[in-house]
Amino acid sequence: MIANERPAIDIVELSKNYGRIKALKGVSLQVHSGELFAYLGPNGSGKTTTIKILTGLARPSAGTAYVNGFNVEKDSIHAKRQCGYVPQALNLDNELTVEQNLYIHGRLFHLEKGYIKDRIIMLLDYIGLLDRAKSPVKELSGGMKRRVMIARALLHEPKILFLDEPTVGLDPSIRRKIWALIKRIQMDGTTIFLTTHYIEEAEFLADRVAFLAEGTLVTVGKPQELIETLGRWALDIVEGEHMKTLYFKTQEEAKTQAIQYPGSFSVRPVNLEDVFISMTGKKVQ
Ligand code: ADP
Repeated sequence: MIANERPAIDIVELSKNYGRIKALKGVSLQVHSGELFAYLGPNGSGKTTTIKILTGLARPSAGTAYVNGFNVEKDSIHAKRQCGYVPQALNLDNELTVEQNLYIHGRLFHLEKGYIKDRIIMLLDYIGLLDRAKSPVKELSGGMKRRVMIARALLHEPKILFLDEPTVGLDPSIRRKIWALIKRIQMDGTTIFLTTHYIEEAEFLADRVAFLAEGTLVTVGKPQELIETLGRWALDIVEGEHMKTLYFKTQEEAKTQAIQYPGSFSVRPVNLEDVFISMTGKKVQ
């Protein structure tokens, strides 16, 4: 097999149990090199568990996974070097400056001091925070902290960046700035695997998306292709206390159907949430 045919991430029949809880139930999935892949599912569906196994922070109960061809268990040192990981919780040292936080991370990866210093300047410039290098982290906003965490994860030049709910709790305008940064990192050649329960985040960012529900993979595909399995337009109809949604290829068809209903209705574009609900009977958010 030639090098660039190898998937960036190869997950094979992966299961994880925490005592009686089956967090993952035999998930198989491949992510292509250079892809921006979104792993979408409600809270508790197993997204973080998957990332933890891929980045060497948790061990599978069964099955295995490879990052850039390295087995996450048997070749964990090489596998970990392929990965940058931005966890969901803000975990910078608030008392230290931005550059000190990055420097410590570089030393943990045994990078050479001069190289770390050059990389810090380059990355802070990249994320637009070079002027905050000497600021204590506690003085930064939530969005700035998230950007510093992304810079920190990129310090050792990983091939794959894992982002666990990268915009959770951020204002919509800040969220869009993080999206732009994520897109730029992908354009610069890094494979990106992100988890989210924000439908619009997956729809906006992802080349492909996987739906996860209760530890099981429901489907994988390109957002637009998944949406078009239902149709392009949705008609929401209120019937008593219930709401029912019908799907149509065109807006005209949806509107024609709508006027036959006496109650209130709305016509809108179909989204990934519709696809998720139609496949699982559950909401993502
Ligand atoms: P998600 O990231 O999709 O919210 P998680 O992977 O965090 O889901 O969790 C999947 C399931 O595993 C949940 O039921 C969660 O409560 C459980 N779980 C996760 N981590 C642990 C742990 N360390 N110990 C026990 N149960 C856990």
